[in-house]
Amino acid sequence: MKQARLSLSIDDGHPADLRMADLLMRHGMRATFYIPMRNGEGPPVLTPGAIRELARHFEIGSHTLDHRFLKRLNVLEALAQIQEGKTALEELLGKKVEGFCYPGGKYRPLHIKMVQSAGFSYARTTKNLFLSAGIKRYELPTTLQFYPHSRSIMMRNFISQGDWNQRRTALNVIGYEADWLNRLYLLVDYAARSGRVCHLWCHSLDIDKLGLWKRLDALLRFATQRYAASQRVDNSQLAVLAAEFE
Ligand SMILES: [Zn+2]
Repeated sequence: MKQARLSLSIDDGHPADLRMADLLMRHGMRATFYIPMRNGEGPPVLTPGAIRELARHFEIGSHTLDHRFLKRLNVLEALAQIQEGKTALEELLGKKVEGFCYPGGKYRPLHIKMVQSAGFSYARTTKNLFLSAGIKRYELPTTLQFYPHSRSIMMRNFISQGDWNQRRTALNVIGYEADWLNRLYLLVDYAARSGRVCHLWCHSLDIDKLGLWKRLDALLRFATQRYAASQRVDNSQLAVLAAEFE
């Protein structure tokens, strides 16, 4: 089923998410921010007040309590990271948190069950090159990360992530394009022209560190010229599309 939707997700709750939010609001973008309460890998996380401020305009999803890769944890630790990350955000925001994002895109079938039983209504992965919301609410895919990946990394991801039938169209669209930014433009343009889902994702920290704000600004202008305001959604709305297949 073809459905034109533009979505963006931003991971890790870095303080630069506030600059991201300003940029997104200027473009009339909808988006979901996946936020751990602390980041065990080192980078700082938004203050509680800043998370509440973000939640006034955007969907907030959970990204575990401490940004821990679930596969590296035992069962009880994984369960605690999933449940406590949700509870902490809900207490902070005073409302239900629907979405979860697997840190590092790493998870096992067991973790999907844990996310379901914790009461989340959907979960996002880092699986890329989808031009749809997929057919699994707890394994929502993406189209492409806004990040200067080399073409060989793209190819490695394509091979290792499976679901090739659903991903080969996007791979054909980017063809042999060597420039990472051109690949994003090609995919946004194709997805819009063919009336499909375009779901980009990024880390505000990367954008900041690599000085990519102007490039992201230009890409969002390009994307919002192609997707009407009513077609711009957050991930909870993409999850509704995926759920239609269950
Ligand atoms: Zn992350």
